Amino acid sequence: MTFAELKILAQKQGSSLLNMVRSNPAKRALTAVAVLFALPVFGVLTAFGVSSDTQLDRIERREISVALALPSPEEAALSLGEQTTFRNSERIQRGDTVAALLARLNVEDQAAFSFLRTDKSARSIFQLRPGRTVQAVTDPAGRLNSFTYLHSPDQYLQVSRSPTGFVAEERKIVPAAQHVYKSGTIRSSLFAATDEAGIPDAIATQIARIFSTDIDFHIDLRKGDRFTVVYEMLYHEGEYLRPGRVMSAEFVNSGKTFQAFLFGDSDGNESYYSADGQNRAKSFLRSALAFSRVSSGFGGRFHPLLKNWRQHTGVDFAAPRGTPIWATADGVVEFAGVKGGYGNMIEIRHSGGITTLYGHLSGFAGGVRRGTRVSQGQTIGFVGATGWATGPHLHYEFKVSGIHQDPLRVALPKAEPLQQKYLVAFQQLASAQAENLAQLRETSFGRFE
Ligand SMILES: [Zn+2]
Repeated sequence: MTFAELKILAQKQGSSLLNMVRSNPAKRALTAVAVLFALPVFGVLTAFGVSSDTQLDRIERREISVALALPSPEEAALSLGEQTTFRNSERIQRGDTVAALLARLNVEDQAAFSFLRTDKSARSIFQLRPGRTVQAVTDPAGRLNSFTYLHSPDQYLQVSRSPTGFVAEERKIVPAAQHVYKSGTIRSSLFAATDEAGIPDAIATQIARIFSTDIDFHIDLRKGDRFTVVYEMLYHEGEYLRPGRVMSAEFVNSGKTFQAFLFGDSDGNESYYSADGQNRAKSFLRSALAFSRVSSGFGGRFHPLLKNWRQHTGVDFAAPRGTPIWATADGVVEFAGVKGGYGNMIEIRHSGGITTLYGHLSGFAGGVRRGTRVSQGQTIGFVGATGWATGPHLHYEFKVSGIHQDPLRVALPKAEPLQQKYLVAFQQLASAQAENLAQLRETSFGRFE
């Protein structure tokens, strides 16, 4: 069995699990466990290619029987048709050529090669983007049946053999989401924990964003904090595209548990709610600094706080020059320019007589000037050291009716709760998801500690 074939089985396994999740909600909990245990086994399968250990043979056969037990109709046709076909998949390398790609895909088909090189409808193949994926289905002799090039996040090139020759067309990608269940414990930083759990950065920043109204991930994080998360990985016909959305998550910070469940209403609005239907979003974010791999590791492990507001009128956050600064709430820019010791400064007026101020910026985001409407989490400028600043940091002030408040302690008004009419649907979803999270928590933390 070749590595490519093993990879295909792994992909089939993935999409079959997804089908199970979709078609049978009662099996969700079961599926969660299946994903958890399937992943390490695939690690073993991959290793099998370079190992002759006979013990692995037993594991391999067991996994294949699982994979074949749940084929989609399309996949079944592929393997049970009159003719055997091979599906290969490759990532485009820097400096790659169409000829080199076809060779790696085991395509030996001169007609296909000239079609790809000359047909106008297949012109997207001329822009080979490193890192993107190509797939080919061939017969045993290497004759091309179909060719797919995932050249952009939402579109792909599909080339198929027809009785009259090859046909090429651009198609829209409709990604299929596979749910992934992960958990982790904070030992040094959020990113260290998500790295350890194999969670993509995009998901890590989403977690920080979802809980950022209660936890400032720059300062509040503690050793021993734990999280469990269910998120989407998006696929196109078994080929991994990118991380999707966080579906539900739990974060235990200093012994306090926070939960978030994604719920979309019939108007197309999506928001994260706690189990009781309270909107996780608040009218103000706890931190004005974008949480990123770079800013999170800056200025000591958990305490990039330089000065608290009692020492002056605001809070100073150390961060590397250029770190994006977020508007902490919806509002209108009252001032954007240079002002004395503040250097480059932005002041935003919000509802309820609240204003926020951001100082020492290295620069302003495009379009941010007096009168600009900004929304919560929008990047308004970048960390710098203009004005009276000894090093790059953000000076942040929070005023209610012109009176300074401690932004880290002030009680923040809550966002709109879930509308009454959605409550029943939400509670069904939340209780099912909460069960998943609880099960995940027990299996992972129970096993390893
Ligand atoms: Zn300051």
